[in-house]
This record gives sequence, structure tokens and C-alpha cells, in this order.
Amino acid sequence: MTYNIHVGVGMDKKLDLQRIADVINRERPDLVGLQEVDRGVKRTEGKDEIAELAAMTRMEYAFAPNLDFQGGKYGVAILSRFPIKNTIHRMFENNREAERRGMLLVEVEVDRKLLTFVTTHLDYQFEDGRLFETEQLMRHVGEVKGPLIVVADLNDVPTGSAYQLMRTKFDDAWVVSRAKGDGFSYPADKPAKRIDHVFSGPGVRAKKAWVVETLASDHVPVVAELELQQIETQHAEQIDWPRYQDMAVDLMQQYLRIDTSNPPGNEIQAARFFKKIFDQYGIENEIFEYKPGRANIIARLKGNGSKRSIILLSHTDVVTAEPAAWEVDPFSAVIKNDYIYGRGALDMKGEGLLHLMTMILLKREGPPLSRDVIFLGTADEEVDDEGSLWMIANKADLFKNAEYLLTEGGDNLLDGGDVKVVGVDVAEKAPFWLRLTATGTPGHGSRPVADSASNRLIRAMSRILDWETPIKLLPAVEKYFKDVAPLQPEPLRLQFANIRESLKDPAFAKSLTSQREYNFLLRNTISITMLSGSKQTNVIPVAATCNIDVRLLPGESPDEFLKALTAVVADPTIKIENINRFKPPNSSSVDTDLFSLIARRTKANHPKAVITTKMLSGYTESQLYRQLGITAYGWAPIYTTPDDDEGVHGNNERISVKNVRQGTREFYEVVREISR
Ligand SMILES: [Zn+2]
Repeated sequence: MTYNIHVGVGMDKKLDLQRIADVINRERPDLVGLQEVDRGVKRTEGKDEIAELAAMTRMEYAFAPNLDFQGGKYGVAILSRFPIKNTIHRMFENNREAERRGMLLVEVEVDRKLLTFVTTHLDYQFEDGRLFETEQLMRHVGEVKGPLIVVADLNDVPTGSAYQLMRTKFDDAWVVSRAKGDGFSYPADKPAKRIDHVFSGPGVRAKKAWVVETLASDHVPVVAELELQQIETQHAEQIDWPRYQDMAVDLMQQYLRIDTSNPPGNEIQAARFFKKIFDQYGIENEIFEYKPGRANIIARLKGNGSKRSIILLSHTDVVTAEPAAWEVDPFSAVIKNDYIYGRGALDMKGEGLLHLMTMILLKREGPPLSRDVIFLGTADEEVDDEGSLWMIANKADLFKNAEYLLTEGGDNLLDGGDVKVVGVDVAEKAPFWLRLTATGTPGHGSRPVADSASNRLIRAMSRILDWETPIKLLPAVEKYFKDVAPLQPEPLRLQFANIRESLKDPAFAKSLTSQREYNFLLRNTISITMLSGSKQTNVIPVAATCNIDVRLLPGESPDEFLKALTAVVADPTIKIENINRFKPPNSSSVDTDLFSLIARRTKANHPKAVITTKMLSGYTESQLYRQLGITAYGWAPIYTTPDDDEGVHGNNERISVKNVRQGTREFYEVVREISR
């Protein structure tokens, strides 16, 4: 917490230290930086304010008298719930006539390690004075080894030069934690300025930040929840990356040469490929051949059990390929123009390979694990999900208590060599496939029947085509539009930023939903796909059918949809039936350590990237595993152009060598971090 307590005088001009202590006791911070603290000063009845506050909060304290005032001292102070091991007080020089200021530094012991906590209160009059003081502060804390937190009343807003200088070396907890609200802390009754800040150095990560409403002082306190991280060890930096990356490219080619086209699948070959490698590195694993030739594989690195496990899930089957339409043999894995070609390169053997490399790296190079890391390779995702369904029905004990699962589904955009968008998939639409069957009087084609089966069906289909399903803006989709708004040209930028408002304009809604890329995000969709009627040109059939591929938004009821569709069809003689196993769409929260870790790492590796949650139009196995209570995300550090994406279920599927090499490192680093 950072709190300018205005010597304990509230907005009502009354001195009351108990009120200040109450605010602190309510928030229960471990460390508090206090500014404007009196000791033995006449205006505050000669009180030793910090000693009194320490008693009222039962914390240890340190005091830094920066000024002599009315027979006493005035300055900044620190309260700590941790033992204070060392205290340093430094005065700042002034570059002109101004109040003397200083900084107070304490070293406290947390989990047998030292943490440095600093507070200061800068000049209130002159920006150049604050900058001069900040330069001195930075010099003093420059020698600190280990984790460091600086809290301050900078008297400087985020556009000010003192604040800006701080940000060259420190994170602002308010910004990093994406705190809600404006963070204004002064004046307490009508906050209008953000001048009280919590800064964190390397090895300290802000998870949350908030301000506390109170009139006990003329400022309100700013509180942040910070997490101490293990500083990167020398050990991790000694990984011989080029060696592992060469290995990744080689294994990628080997994996792509295994033909697991589904049907028929033959995923046992993929399972054996993984088994051989896991055995070689001493990683415990087991194959489950649930049907001849159809097999899943699970491998596990044991953690100490202090956290629940993480599953790296990939399907090992691929869709079939039409070799004649490819530039190369779909199972040759040749490298051409820095791309590795092969069916499954993106969907999803590339990700499976990153999962494999992560297992090897964790086993050989990684830190001790806090949780089990589970590799799960499943058969038959592309057709019936048999592999995953079998695992969940028969072997769920091996993974069902997992906290996280990572699999396919992320939607990343590489544009002009830069990663522009990284979409973590947290929700998907659900297929709800329907068949419409019309029946009617048959006959010879030479003597038309006005209400024949075909004619009725076509009229019904025409009504379906004209039906505009209602537009619905889900919170995750709203977030997506807001996230990508900065990438758009005006006026789209403003319209996306205020998407809920914008959609109320029918012309805008019409133009947005006329684009395939956006339409499916906003409504239940219908594609007319299979059609059949007579087998002969001159025969009017007794029945005509049409299959439609309906995709429902998360939260939609299939029964409700069917009712609405039946009304649109408006022909009771047409039978409408559901022809797939409907899996209710679900979603995972973005408010997790894993999500923020992915966001943070991605931002560090690709500063231009916007991290968002684009709902998938398609289905992924995440839906099955979320039902077990697992947080499932579609994410992999594989960055593709729209051109590359054409290869998924299409021709010339390929993954860039760069994606394999860099992805190996980026994926490993996220899993390592979340499993420490
Ligand atoms: Zn897939």
C-alpha cells in the first residue's frame, strides 16, 4: 500500500490516526509506504505518529525525518508485517529553493529471502525538481540486488517526466495488472489525479491493484497485490537453444512423415513415435490402443504436488490430403523456402511437436516442478473425438484433477513480419447439425406437381436464407472488438472501441455482419450444405432433404433455436431433425495466472501484438475437458499469415521453420513458468 496520510488529518480537518489505522487494518497489506508523517510536531499534538500507527496495526516500522518542523520531525515512513532487517534513509539534493525531501529504504525478510521496499514523496511544486529527485532515487536503488518495490507520492501524473523516468526501470502495478478504473488518488473526496504509485522491479509481478475510498486523509491509498517470482536462474539461461531448435526441426519432419490421415487414422504410429522419444529421455509414458490401430498416448513429468497439473493436449490424427493438388507429397515433410510442408503442420502436429519439446526440455533443463506436466496425444479428433472420449470415459483418473489444459484453437496473425494479434481461444461455437426432409406427391417430371417435396423444400430453404438470426454481443466478443480496435483505421477504430453502442446503428450492424470474419462472432449462423432430391431428371421425388450446418453461440439453447427455425420454415410437413451429438458450448475464464502469463510473455516477445480472446467458429476438444472443471485454452506460439492458414484442411499445409524454432522456446518458457 502507498498512502499519503496528510499527518492523519482527514477531509473534515480533524486529526484522527485511528481512522488511518482502520483503513490499513481493513486492507491488510504486508508493506505500507506512508507519506506526510509527523513525530513530535506541535500541529499534531506532539504525537509520534508512526509509532502509534505501528501499535494500532501491529506492524514493524521505520521512519525517515526529512524536515525539522514545529519542534519535531516530518517525513516518510514504512510499516511492515515482515521483519525489518535493515533501514536506509537518504536525503535528496535540491536544484533550487524547495522543501527538502528524501527516501526511505527497508530490507525485509520474506520466505528467508530479502525484499527491498522503498518509499518517497516528491516535490509538489516543480516538475524539474521532481525529475532531479527521481534521478537521485534511481541512483540509490540502482545497486539493489534482488526484488524491489518502490511506492511513492510522486506528485506526478503518468504523463509527467518523473513518472516517465521511473517507468524506464519499473513496472507500474496499476498498468501491469490492468486495474479497473482510473486509479485517481487525490483529492480524496473527488479524486481527479493519479499521483500515488506502486512500482515493481524485476522479479516482482503485479496481479491486482485498487484504490480504497476513504476520507481519512486528503489522499486515498493505492493498494497492489504483488507476486515475488524466482529470478531467472543462470541455469535456465545456459540452455543450448540452437541445439534444441535443430532437434525440433528434425523431429517435426519425422512426425509429419507419419501418415495419420483420418479416416482411417492409424494413430498408433504416432503414439509409438512419441513413446520411443519419451523412453529415450526417461519420461514415464503409456499407450492406450483402444481399437486396433487407434491409440492415445499419455506422458507425465512429476511435480511436487503443490499445484494441480497442466495438460498439453494434441490430436495426432490429420484430415486427408489430395496429393494431386499439393506442390509436394503431403507426407514428405520437405523444407521449401523456409517452410516445412506436410499435412498436419498447423492442425496440429506443429503444436504437438512443441508439447514434445517442452517435455524434453523440462526433463533435461527445467527447474523442479510444482505441478505435474502431462502430455496427452489423442486419436480421432478430426472425425468423432473417439480418442478423447475414450480417455475421459476410461482413464480420467490420470488427468481429471488438472488445473489447466493447452490445446489448439488460438488464432494468431502475422502481418508484414510482425505478430499483430495473438488470440487465446477461451470459447467456441457449437455445431448443431440439422436435416430438413420434405415429402410430397411423386410423379413424372413432364407433369409438374405444385407442392412437390422439392418445391416445398426449396421454398423453406429460401425463407431460411432470408432469416437474419438476432445479433448477440457476448462479453468475450465485446472484449475482442475492443482489443483489436487500435489496429483498425478510423472510423472503425472508434466503432470497435464502442462496439455495443455501434451495433445499435442498423447500417453499421449490417455492414459488419456482411463480413464473414465478424458475422459468426455475433450470431447463430446457418450454412446450407448437403442437398438431395430425385436421382433422375424426369422423376419428381417423394422426398427431398437438405442438411444445414448450424453453429450456436455459447449459452444458446438448441431447443429454443429449433423452435425459432421451425417458425421460419413455416411448413409443418417438413421434418426437422438433429443429426449430430450436440455438445453444449462452454468457456474458460481469462482471470487466471496462466492467461496473464501468456499475455505477459507474448507482449515481451512481440511488443506489437494485441492479446485477445477471439471466439472460434469451429469446435475444439476444449469443450470436452472443460466439463471436468479444467481451464482449457487454445494457444500456441505459432504465428501465421492468412495465406498460411489456407493450408489448414486445405492444400500445401506448412509451418515456417522459424515457428518451429522460436515456438519451441516460447512454449517451453510459458509451461516452465506456470509449473515452477
Ligand atoms: Zn485440429
